[in-house]
Parts: sequence; C-alpha cells; structure tokens
Amino acid sequence: MEDARDKKELNQILKDTLKNNQDHYKKGELANYIPALTKVDPKAVGISMVDTKGKFYATGEYKKRFTIQSVSKPLTLMLAIMDNGIDSVFDKVGVEPTGDPFNSIIKLTGFAKPYNPMINAGAIAVTSMIKGNDKEDKFSRIIGFFRKLAKNDGLELNQEVYFSEKETGDRNRSLAYYMRDQEIITGNIEEIVDLYFKQCSIEVNCTDIANMAAVLANQGVDPVTKERIIPRKIARIVRTLMTTCGMYDKSGNFAIEVGLAAKSGVGGGIMAEVPERFGIGVYGPALDDKGNSIVGMKVLKELSQKLNLSIF
Ligand code: GLN
Repeated sequence: MEDARDKKELNQILKDTLKNNQDHYKKGELANYIPALTKVDPKAVGISMVDTKGKFYATGEYKKRFTIQSVSKPLTLMLAIMDNGIDSVFDKVGVEPTGDPFNSIIKLTGFAKPYNPMINAGAIAVTSMIKGNDKEDKFSRIIGFFRKLAKNDGLELNQEVYFSEKETGDRNRSLAYYMRDQEIITGNIEEIVDLYFKQCSIEVNCTDIANMAAVLANQGVDPVTKERIIPRKIARIVRTLMTTCGMYDKSGNFAIEVGLAAKSGVGGGIMAEVPERFGIGVYGPALDDKGNSIVGMKVLKELSQKLNLSIF
C-alpha cells in the first residue's frame, strides 16, 4: 500500500501533522519526579516512521536523544519470555489492565501477582527474570537486545538520568521489596531495581524506536535483514499487551482515538506499530497526567486518521 504512496507525500503528511499538533506541549508537564528528566526542551517534537520494506520517513527533532523509560517494558518482556518461556513469565505476571497509574502500589496488595508487565511492578518482576552470569552480563544482554532491534550499536546509558532515578526511585524499590515478600520475585532487590533503572535510562531517538516497532509490525522479523529476532508467538503476545495496557490508564481511550499497539515512556517517547505496515517512533517530552506524551498522542491520532492506521 505504501509503495503506491510517494515518499515526498508521506514526509509532507508527517510535517503537517507535527505542525498541527506541536503546540499541545503547553498543556503537559515534564516528568519532574525524576529530576534529570526536567532538563529537556518541552517544545521539542519529532517523528520517525519505517515501513516493513525498510523505507524511512521522518520530520522534526527525530534525531534528538531521550531516555527510553517505559518503552523498554515490552522489549525486556520479549527477552524474558525468550529466556524463560511463556508459562514461567506469566506465572509471575498477569495480562490484565489495571486502570491505575503506572507506578501504583494499590493493586499489588492482596493479589497473587502484578496485573501486567507494562506497569512498573510487572516490569520490575520481568526484569528480575532476565538471565545472565552477573548484573553486568544481564545489562549487556538487555542493551544488546535493544541495539539489535534498533539496528543501532551506538545505544548507550544516560548516566545522569540513571543516577537521578536511582536516587528518587523509592516507589519502585517498595514495589520490588513487597513482591519479594510475596514470593513473586527472588534475588537481590537492589540489583534488580538497579537493572530496571538502567534499562529505563538507555538513550534512543525516534528512529531507534521506530525500527524496534517495525520488527514488531513485521511479526518479529527484521524488515531489512530478514532475520527472525523474536518468535512470532511472543511478538503477538507483546503486541497484544501493548494494545490493552501500553498507555496505562489511558489505554482504552488511546485504542478508540488511535487504535494501535503502542508503548509510552516518561522520557516522552511513544513506540507504535501498524501490523504489516509501519513502525512509528514519536517524541515530545511534555506529558499528560497519565505520563504519556501529549504531542505524541495527538500526532498519532491525526496520523491514524489520515493514513487509516487503526487496527479496529
Ligand atoms: N523509569 C520510570 C519509572 O520507573 C519509568 C516510568 C514510565 O516511563 N512510565 O518510574
């Protein structure tokens, strides 16, 4: 379908869509609960799109780097499932939406496991299952997997954001200690939480997350190299969880307005995939009250309408 569409035409659509929505940043706020995340320009916006034939479209500040934050959650989930198998992972983490904020502790008490892997509790449990000889080896497996999906060996950790999260991450620590008490996770909690902070502090740009999403859109096969990176079944499970839980307690609204599997992060990124068609990466660091990029959601909504992208 995209072959018929002129590259210039699609780039123009991206440009117009960004222009129409860039002012929405005024209604949002930077993620000030992680102090280092407030040192960015709230007006910066960008978008990259990669189709499943490997063609690339982009506009705005698509090369600007930001920390991946929760966009990392579906990625480590895939690695954890490949490491441990589907049943072992979902024995410890559920697959149901919470309707609560991403860092909520409320639904953890009184339940056998965190509701889903897209909220912090579930994601920390998932990170605790990543295999490796030691903590360094585990992190190098995570960043290696992200680099492969992004087709970018240059992905690195943002030390300042990592230290800022480490210093202020007591909610995440609490979730992790509680889960160990409940025998959901085992091991050294400080090491597990540290690995989670690091995975969230990896720097990417719009093109990196668009490339990652293109692998998902292509059912786990890299559209360019044709290498199968993720088994089809695992890609399907993760795409489903992104659709139902990826935008936290805004997932239902996002499904109506945009209709795509997507994952947001408080660094301002949203990764979205259009089955068999596109991987999309959007950036805009001003967030709504649920922690999703305001401009990112508006841009995806307009793009979904213009290009008829909704899966519903
Ligand atoms: N590192 C962030 C946290 O744990 C990730 C949250 C997010 O992106 N929604 O709070």
